[in-house]
Amino acid sequence: MSATVQSITVLGASGSIGVSTLDVIARHPDRYKVFALTADRRWQVLATQCLAYRPRYAVMKDPVSASALEMELRRQGCTTEVLQGDDALAQVASDPEVDTVMAAIVGAAGLLPTLAAVRAGKKVLLANKEALVMAGGLFTRVVAESGALLLPIDSEHNAIFQCLPNHRADYLQQGLKSSGVRKILLTASGGPFRNTPLSDLPKVTPEQACAHPNWSMGQKISVDSATMLNKGLELIEACWLFNARPQQVQVVVHPQSVIHSMVEYIDGSVLAQLGNPDMRTPIAHALAWPERIESGVASLDLIATARLDFSSPDYMRFPCLRLAQQAAETAGTAPAILNAANEVAVASFLQRRIRFDQIAVVIEQVLSRIVSVEPHDLGHVQAADAEARALAQQLIAQW
Ligand code: NDP
Ligand code: MG
Repeated sequence: MSATVQSITVLGASGSIGVSTLDVIARHPDRYKVFALTADRRWQVLATQCLAYRPRYAVMKDPVSASALEMELRRQGCTTEVLQGDDALAQVASDPEVDTVMAAIVGAAGLLPTLAAVRAGKKVLLANKEALVMAGGLFTRVVAESGALLLPIDSEHNAIFQCLPNHRADYLQQGLKSSGVRKILLTASGGPFRNTPLSDLPKVTPEQACAHPNWSMGQKISVDSATMLNKGLELIEACWLFNARPQQVQVVVHPQSVIHSMVEYIDGSVLAQLGNPDMRTPIAHALAWPERIESGVASLDLIATARLDFSSPDYMRFPCLRLAQQAAETAGTAPAILNAANEVAVASFLQRRIRFDQIAVVIEQVLSRIVSVEPHDLGHVQAADAEARALAQQLIAQW
């Protein structure tokens, strides 16, 4: 049992990961208390959460939503202070009273508040993979300087972390090989269109793309899972988190999502982490690490699961995966360009402005037209992100 109660900021509290995080926290009032909750616009969700968890601060990115939340909380007699905007997000991520930050804002919008938490040396539970994909080099430098503890929430990376040796410093400083690791096996469900006839893919709707067979998630990551760009982002994320080269990460399609990823050692041992597909397991693992706590997740019923299947990814069906692998190998600002083009393309698909199969076309064209450079600071990353967004928007407007 921990001696002190940990104070937690949940960035992206109104989202899928945010809600699961609060569910785990609520099971352990003796261990955790909520310092701040944040969202963009869904102030009603945040109002309910503030009444339940009574945080010191609630931050809305959007000013109109902040006013609505403020009015509602005052009406309900809740004393949570409402703040607004980017500076406030960074402030609650780095406040001296905060021990742990759950980084669960979706997309590039999470980069600055997550970096603020890392700079302040917090324990950072990283769900916001896009931040690491965009600025992995900078991130890892700041982690080393500040002494922050970065723990993966993405189910695959949390699984890999659990299967890797306990002496993290060894592989982080000298590479995976020095720890006897041959490769990482990154599992992928293949999403909702794994078996859809290729000729039907141009017709799929946002509703179909968001209906993931195994996981319940926010819209953007659901579309990323349907294109398998998510697995590409995860490959890049794994390289930064575990000091791996892209060639050391093999993507394996495993439709049941029971094995969350594996690590193969040079003696031929393959270690896997298994569990029900419920994000409360990696969230509880990272919250309590190196201890273990209850997460609310049911026991895995292996008899009912009955079988585990594996296959190679189909690059004809999932061109986004190949594009992400190429960006990982190019490195520099290529992953930031890939991520920005994808964010614009996915938003346009969700607004029914482009077809599902055009997401890959946007990314491919943007990557081929913007040259990757070595980013020396955050400004370079942000410039690449802005250039890629503008080009993606321009291409989509011309269609
Ligand atoms: P959701 O869309 O469900 O939630 C996103 C959260 O971010 C919401 O709180 C949202 O606020 C907030 N947000 C959105 N845009 C902004 C912005 N511009 N500024 C500030 N806050 C913003 O996403 P998920 O919870 O599914 O995913 C969160 C992150 O976790 C993503 O990076 C995803 O890749 C990663 N992840 C998610 C998994 C899952 O199971 N869901 C699994 C593994 C990783 P509002 O509600 O007001 O829009
Ligand atoms: Mg994942």
